[in-house]
Amino acid sequence: MNVSFDELYDVLPKPIVWKAELMFKGVRYSNALTDAVTNGAAPNYWPHRKITPDGHGQLLPVPYLFKLENAVARVRVNDASEFEVQHSSNGYLLTSHGEPLCDVAFVPEHSWASFRTSDGSTYSEAGVEQLGDMLVVNLTPGCEYFMTKSSCKFCGYGRFNAKTQSLGQLPGIIPPNSRTLDRLSEVLTNAAKTGEARHVYIVGGSTLHPEQEVQRFSPVIKVARAAVGNAMHVTAGSGAVDRDGSMQYLDAGADTCCYNMETWDAATFEAVCPGKAKSVGRDRWIKALTDAVDVFGWGNVASAFVAGVEVPPPAPGMTTEQMLSSIREGAEYLLDRGITPLYSPLWPVDGTAYSPADGISPQTYLQLEYEICQLRHQRNFPVPNWLICPNCSYMLMEVDFDAAFGIGQIHAAAH
Ligand code: SF4
Repeated sequence: MNVSFDELYDVLPKPIVWKAELMFKGVRYSNALTDAVTNGAAPNYWPHRKITPDGHGQLLPVPYLFKLENAVARVRVNDASEFEVQHSSNGYLLTSHGEPLCDVAFVPEHSWASFRTSDGSTYSEAGVEQLGDMLVVNLTPGCEYFMTKSSCKFCGYGRFNAKTQSLGQLPGIIPPNSRTLDRLSEVLTNAAKTGEARHVYIVGGSTLHPEQEVQRFSPVIKVARAAVGNAMHVTAGSGAVDRDGSMQYLDAGADTCCYNMETWDAATFEAVCPGKAKSVGRDRWIKALTDAVDVFGWGNVASAFVAGVEVPPPAPGMTTEQMLSSIREGAEYLLDRGITPLYSPLWPVDGTAYSPADGISPQTYLQLEYEICQLRHQRNFPVPNWLICPNCSYMLMEVDFDAAFGIGQIHAAAH
């Protein structure tokens, strides 16, 4: 894979380039998107809000995920985009500036989505989301860092709000709500019967101490494992916990873990992730990751990063080249210790420290993904499929690069 970056656009399979462009530019709203949901596509959690000629707002369902040959990509509606979906004789066609690009499909809603728990709750009310073949479980989306004004500077999703209330989560209360746990058990038990989902990824807002993280996550892992048996892979996606905490996750039934560090650079970590810096600290976070490899095994630990936070304030600041160099340093450190790093681009959202101009460009993101792919290639360390796979990698590109450059997947052993 000795390809210069300038040649990348020519060398990469076109669906990967289109995926990157769709991730960054989105797609213009068209009736075909709403028709796709009517025809069975899994709906997006954020319907499109259209302003009607009389000035009223109208919410229109749109699909959650595109299927582009062997890749999936998030459907993000942006009426300024050059991309549009139209009906075609084969189903749906993706166009750019009105010119046909390729046939597209949408990830269908799983058959268990219509299931209701014994108290009449939907899967969403049980804290479950379907992302391709992954079930993301989040019973505690409220993050205590928001209560101590120390939230990560890019984060727009950890506030206590109507969603946390509906899941029975209250600020300062660590264990998940027992009634929501019961609902979760019913939803996962039913979902596991169909075989449509392959992995369960348990996430949640952070607590202020690693020990409390274990208190919060262990009961959810136990319920998930009991519900899915050996039918699905279970990952603990908490904040960093010490070796004993990882042991407790393993005992509760987790196969793997993912403790997201968000940024490798020490000064950026302090400035951008003040809650993580204060509650855990960078050195303890890194030790938690390497200790977790002792517990779960080589290749069974991961950490996600937000690429781009190194450049604009509140970080002390870097050039793009300095940022890439820092990210490479972190990736080499982690890969050499059996830990998979994943990178999503900084996407500024309202209510955070960043304005739209602070996001990284698609070119920089592709360059970063290419360079990290080279590091994986040198180590024969493909992104493991317990973590992310072609059927759920809708906001990341690691699996697409591995596939494009012939790096095989690591298949996780059954629990
Ligand atoms: S830990 Fe950071 S990214 Fe995660 S929910 Fe809290 S503030 Fe958001």
